[in-house]
Amino acid sequence: MTPLRIILLGPPGAGKGTHAKILSERYELAHISTGDILRSQIQEGTPLGKKAKSFIDSGKLVPDELVVEMMRERLEDRDVKKGFILDGFPRTVEQAKALECMLVDKQMPVNLVLEFQTSEKVIVDRLSGRRVCSNCGANFHIRNIPPKREGICDVCGKALIQRKDDDPETVRKRLKVYQDQTAPLIEFYKQRKVLRVVNGDLEIEPLQQELKQVLG
Ligand code: ATP
Ligand code: MG
Repeated sequence: MTPLRIILLGPPGAGKGTHAKILSERYELAHISTGDILRSQIQEGTPLGKKAKSFIDSGKLVPDELVVEMMRERLEDRDVKKGFILDGFPRTVEQAKALECMLVDKQMPVNLVLEFQTSEKVIVDRLSGRRVCSNCGANFHIRNIPPKREGICDVCGKALIQRKDDDPETVRKRLKVYQDQTAPLIEFYKQRKVLRVVNGDLEIEPLQQELKQVLG
């Protein structure tokens, strides 16, 4: 059987990270989140992390060259052979073209792009209530996915924090960046006949049901 090679497309707060994690466990896929990789590079203080930090904190995209190079390396890892789910990449047409070239060379084309259609109201609510673990990066939400103990990570017991780029002003900026730079990918993947739309406004469980149907 052909491995599943999936791209999740959708605005910030659409739930890409949450659903990528669940799907990657269910279907045994490599979960590749460029946002997570970049944030861990920042924490470790690597050269890439240093270059990326100011872009991320201000809600802009990290330059294509940096992200594409980072993905080129990640796609060399053995675990991508079993199939993968890309969460947060590509985010520009440039990145999508670069990805297409890399995957053609590897004979591993993407077979499904899921567009999480999500309303602005839901996005703002999810991002303003989001809390992330300062240590392991696990995601919570003060109402939708509350931790067992307030302010403490269920996974590793460390403190939960609010991401700098989740403040309302930066969220608005990120939404605009999505509309301007990432939304054109919807057309790009429509033309390649791999796009499927799902309802990103749904709560986690009902959307998982919808995803199960799409994935057959
Ligand atoms: P979600 O809430 O759906 O998980 P998100 O937009 O909140 O998505 P991340 O995917 O974690 O968050 O991305 C955070 C930031 O990292 C982006 O605003 C951007 O600065 C940077 N980034 C992540 N992926 C890319 C990419 N493919 N190209 C450029 N910058 C990126
Ligand atoms: Mg994310």
